[in-house]
Amino acid sequence: MTLGHTADVGRAAAEALATLVPDVADFPEPGIVFKDITPLLADPAGLRAVVDALAEVGRRDGEVVVDKVVGMEARGFILAAPVALALGVGFVPVRKAGKLPRETHAVSYALEYGEATLELHRDAIAPGERVLLVDDVLATGGTVAATRDLVAACGGTATAVAVLMELSFLPGRAAVGDLPVHALTTV
Ligand code: AMP
Repeated sequence: MTLGHTADVGRAAAEALATLVPDVADFPEPGIVFKDITPLLADPAGLRAVVDALAEVGRRDGEVVVDKVVGMEARGFILAAPVALALGVGFVPVRKAGKLPRETHAVSYALEYGEATLELHRDAIAPGERVLLVDDVLATGGTVAATRDLVAACGGTATAVAVLMELSFLPGRAAVGDLPVHALTTV
């Protein structure tokens, strides 16, 4: 895979994100500007562009360097599954509390108001596996930090997080520590 190819993939994704993700003011509550990815998902060329660009994060010099792709409920699922297929590795869901049927690891983390709990099946990641995390938006970073801890509880290592968009006015990068963040766009 050449640098030129990677740059082309990144450019196509950035163009799709610029035109197909409208801002929705005051959703789900006053003061939040919600990034609505549903028009992007409905556009096959746009969806392919962002999936290709996210998948590049799981390769080095054209070689696949991850063993699993984890997507976080719910929009992370939609993106992580085709990224896993593109890389030829398995997809693993991280779900909200009480949704996974077998034994899980659970991590709770603070939201602006209250607390959330995420879960991962204990056997979903094997010890030593390298894991790419995929989500749509990196905001405060709480979801990614909790997911990284869940992967670690299984004995795996989150090696990078790939997102469509990073909200630069929030401390998402700081919250995820030394985990490399690859955002297709920063807003
Ligand atoms: P956080 O844990 O604060 O980084 O939040 C990340 C999660 O919340 C992601 O799974 C996003 O889907 C969602 N999210 C946060 N802020 C926004 C936003 N402005 N627009 C759309 N989704 C968002």
